[in-house]
Amino acid sequence: MSLSRRAVLPILILAVAAVVPVAAQEPEEVPAGDAAVFQVRTISRGIHLFRPLQPTGRHTNSLVIERRDGLLVVDAQPTKEAALDLLAAIRGVTTAPLRYLVFTHPHVEASGGSDAFPPEVLRIASRGYRDSVADPEFGYQSEWRSYRGIPEPPESAEAGPEPQRRPVATLTLMGRTRLEDPLHPIVLLPVPHTHSPGDLLVYEPRAEIVAVGDLVFNNRNPYAGHARVKSWISQLNQLLTLNPKTIVPLRGGAVDVARVRNQRDALRWLKKQVEEQVAERVEGQKIPAAVLKLKDADRYFNTAVAPSNLPLLVQRLVDEVRKERREQGLE
Ligand SMILES: [Zn+2]
Repeated sequence: MSLSRRAVLPILILAVAAVVPVAAQEPEEVPAGDAAVFQVRTISRGIHLFRPLQPTGRHTNSLVIERRDGLLVVDAQPTKEAALDLLAAIRGVTTAPLRYLVFTHPHVEASGGSDAFPPEVLRIASRGYRDSVADPEFGYQSEWRSYRGIPEPPESAEAGPEPQRRPVATLTLMGRTRLEDPLHPIVLLPVPHTHSPGDLLVYEPRAEIVAVGDLVFNNRNPYAGHARVKSWISQLNQLLTLNPKTIVPLRGGAVDVARVRNQRDALRWLKKQVEEQVAERVEGQKIPAAVLKLKDADRYFNTAVAPSNLPLLVQRLVDEVRKERREQGLE
């Protein structure tokens, strides 16, 4: 039986492919980014914190965990460019395949660079993340523009296509979930609405390391644009019961439980002050300035930083305290 010409050609191609080294067929893609923007700290064997060397705000922290089944990366950087820098820096440490990308929350600072990761990487987030990125009212685009230095379009402008695709998680977690692995098992813990409507903790129980996104602020001044502060206080208490050795926030170096306790105490103190001001019928708009002028404010917050997240944080609490009083029939 003779082979037709149509059949010979594929066989020839297969034969040639068999002798060409794999590397020549598919040269390993070297990320185009600048690895030097990150410093790498190995917190525990196979667990690395990639932290921007300069606090320019264009990059954030990412935690990289070398599992037997590949790399698990926590948070995707604010933009695709920043994520390419991260991928280049990761390749300076390991050539293991990228397997999982976990978003700690739906802010651009944690998810905006998702498109730089290969499509086969499994994106994981909480149900609150899914709902937030699907919500046109959630300010994803304006946060993305501010990272790019792109001015907001005027209110009169016709709504065109959104400038940034909202990164969708492939796997939405409805509750506590465990990813088994002989080296680094991971517990993924969605938490109720705290810093954002979709916060998620990534816990490595053997090394007792937890990545918390923006649940903990290294700089003492939490951003509360989408926060529920009372719930934030209870979730910080939950985090303390986990008693991790190392806590990795989205910005700055890793911290320990003392920082969590300080932030919890700061939010508790602030809540008490706001409750008093509201009960004394101080006008809502005047409460942030009044509270931040109090003698103890500097003990709990860094009031010297400008522009500050603090007035917004106080305002969120004013709204929460008022709502609670209305529910109790006090207003
Ligand atoms: Zn955030």
